[in-house]
Amino acid sequence: MKMSPKAQKLNLLGLLGNQVSILTGFSRSVRAVSDSPRWQGELRDAVRDAGELCRRLQLPQELALGASGGAEQFPVFVPPSYLARIKSGDIRDPLLLQVLPDRGETKVVSGYSSDPVDDAAASLQPGVLQKYQGRALLVTTGACAVHCRYCFRRHFPYEQSPHSDAAWDAAIASIAADTSIREVILSGGDPLMLVDSRLASLVEKITAIAHVRWLRVHTRLPIMVPSRVTKEMLAWLTDGRLTPVVVIHANHVQELDELVAHSLSKLKLAGVTLLNQTVLLRGVNNSVAAQVALSERLIDIGVVPYYLHQLDRVTGAAHFEVPVAEGRRLMEELRKQLPGYAVPRYVQEVAGQPHKLVLA
Ligand code: SF4
Repeated sequence: MKMSPKAQKLNLLGLLGNQVSILTGFSRSVRAVSDSPRWQGELRDAVRDAGELCRRLQLPQELALGASGGAEQFPVFVPPSYLARIKSGDIRDPLLLQVLPDRGETKVVSGYSSDPVDDAAASLQPGVLQKYQGRALLVTTGACAVHCRYCFRRHFPYEQSPHSDAAWDAAIASIAADTSIREVILSGGDPLMLVDSRLASLVEKITAIAHVRWLRVHTRLPIMVPSRVTKEMLAWLTDGRLTPVVVIHANHVQELDELVAHSLSKLKLAGVTLLNQTVLLRGVNNSVAAQVALSERLIDIGVVPYYLHQLDRVTGAAHFEVPVAEGRRLMEELRKQLPGYAVPRYVQEVAGQPHKLVLA
């Protein structure tokens, strides 16, 4: 298969990275000096090739051929624990559809772009975004434990974000200088791809800023690799004075098996507020049954169904879009079938707006 220069670079990083770091497939790798080899080992064993993914799941190899264009733009990356939750032989499996590149990813579709939520305009300085009043978002890493095909940051210029502890000082200084900021959000990529020692150091610096009160972490790692919830992670997240909130990004009930539930229970017991944000995805969760099952499972395992997010119109993801009218009809049914606290807010991020738009 002919590889683009970007994919060649990522592949090379992978070959080298297995010895000293975790390959992530985004624009950088993470040095593996951690105290938690189990989750890092799972990432090293991730499937990075559509053909291999199809072979392991007993799927037709034609699917892999169709995936090649999308994989050149955004490589396949699936950790083994997530792979184990995908049903073999089912080409419509809702977890498979999130990770296997689709033929449609290479189509040019009007209205879709590489930066659909205008992150560029919200950049205060490298690594820091501010879209909404009182909150600042740190793009901690470009690395992720999975490559979701609908990812709105699949084209983000991660190489411009700080890559060392010292490089974070300017970002921290900008938050310290703005006394209106009450909440710092760790985002990425996935912030939990960084080792706990680095996260502890970063959180210590944030904690030292007197006007910051809340620490929010957006992550898919407890779902992708449940062993990522370590005692060291619980320490930096909950031992300080900041109120911890973790937003997991589950899209389907099948993702939330007992191992995931157990890891989330550790966060819950440590006093972390757990919220879920789902992306409305055609073929994955755009049915009443799928949304009801997801919300019910979330409540069972102590997670609040917080947002149902309209797809961000990123290049390569058009085949996932569900029209807003269909989303609103879905919400009507959810309200009939679920208690109010189990119904997420249906929202959309609109570039330049002071808050997310509530669609229903
Ligand atoms: S985990 Fe989030 S940031 Fe990472 S690929 Fe998936 S959607 Fe994108």
